[in-house]
Amino acid sequence: MNFLRNRLVVLGLVLLATLLLYLMGLIATPPPPLPTINVSIRTGQLPGDPPLFFREALPIDGAGRQILLQVVLLHGQAFTSKTWEELGTMALLATNGYQALAMDLPDGALRFLDRIAEELELPMKKIEVWPDRVVSIMTWEGKNPSLKSILLNSHTDVVPVFQEHWKYDAFSAFKDAEGNIYARGTQDMKCVTIQYIQAIRRLKAEGHRLMRTVHLMFVPDEEVGGHKGMETFVKHPEFQKLNIGFALDEGLANPGEAFTVFYGERNPWWITVHCPGSPGHGSRFVENTAAEKMRQVINSFLNFREKEKTRLNTSECFTLGDVTTVNMTMVKGGVAYNVIPAEMDVSFDLRIPPTVNLQEFEAQIKQWCKEAGEDITYKFAQKHMNQDVTSTEESDPWWSAFSGACKAMNMRLEKEIFPAATDSRFIRAVGIPAIGFSPMNRTPILLHDHNEYLNEQIFLKGISVYERLIPALASVPAFPDEV
Ligand SMILES: [Zn+2]
Repeated sequence: MNFLRNRLVVLGLVLLATLLLYLMGLIATPPPPLPTINVSIRTGQLPGDPPLFFREALPIDGAGRQILLQVVLLHGQAFTSKTWEELGTMALLATNGYQALAMDLPDGALRFLDRIAEELELPMKKIEVWPDRVVSIMTWEGKNPSLKSILLNSHTDVVPVFQEHWKYDAFSAFKDAEGNIYARGTQDMKCVTIQYIQAIRRLKAEGHRLMRTVHLMFVPDEEVGGHKGMETFVKHPEFQKLNIGFALDEGLANPGEAFTVFYGERNPWWITVHCPGSPGHGSRFVENTAAEKMRQVINSFLNFREKEKTRLNTSECFTLGDVTTVNMTMVKGGVAYNVIPAEMDVSFDLRIPPTVNLQEFEAQIKQWCKEAGEDITYKFAQKHMNQDVTSTEESDPWWSAFSGACKAMNMRLEKEIFPAATDSRFIRAVGIPAIGFSPMNRTPILLHDHNEYLNEQIFLKGISVYERLIPALASVPAFPDEV
């Protein structure tokens, strides 16, 4: 028995030594370098909901060759599988006998846009305007690219949803029996984004080549103020290079037959008025209290609010964009029931039309504070001073092209000042005329609302609208300074 056990131990040791020698041999003598070979890159879709898009690089003349390893490439949100291809990484891996696979996870509008650009055969540029904030631009070059271009702008972000208030899943794009498509962004403003793309697709398919260059721009962060998006990008050298002459951006739905167009925007002012006063015991008549001053301030602001409200309700031709709205939104002060506080703060949200003289308006606020008592100060959390409006005179060539095309389609336009704020204000601020327009008539205004929807017929008609509008704008004859 002992003999047999010893033999087994010896055999085991021999086997172990053989294995070690084999492995050491592997390390000591690396495989010879692989010859350079041709590579093919193919794209495809893996079924699923939503489907997965992938790019795969393989050696072409690798018949009989063994694929050493499959390499799966991953990428951040700002990039796509196309980026790996462009960097040459996929080809490099395939050349060395690896099968390289890059997959686009269906989590971003950016990847969707890449595929659209490929399909439309339009070059796509991406500019990181802020860390992790990318502006994408597809360009359809005109016959005369030295002329000023047309910008078709859309923002890719949406506001949050409260699913419990929705009739259908807010991200399922459910279409009901009447053809109403429910989804966040159907009005604000994915409808317009898709309509731009489809209109360009049709125009290209029909063999058109427009005179002026058309840029399709996709920006982030509009819904959170545009600071990391359009506001920063309009100052970027890449923006200057686009040489934009006229811009289209989002508008609002119109519940009636007409279509609303926006040629300016109100200026948001967020102001806090600080009222210091004499403190004291809650049982006495203390003079010069913070509350008395604050009451005066509130009265002045809210009296003005009443006047503006009356003006809106009594004038047929006024819309919300034509008047200043005032709302008292925050009050701060006090420590106990029986202590008269030494200071109180009151805050207001004001939205002022671009037609108001903003310097005079601020002088008015200063006067209200002065009348309310001593040492009252105010501070702005936000104070936009943009008084640019886009011309809607028939003599203006851009407006004439826009309104002419609408007229030819029997569309009635209602010109308004946008009651809130969009990225158009940054475009106008750098001197570019911009019109806010989303072709949605017979539609309730549901942007940012629960159960946002758009009827499919209205949506489809919008594509035809842009199919006429885009060529009209891109055919505006050269200006004297454009040569
Ligand atoms: Zn929007």
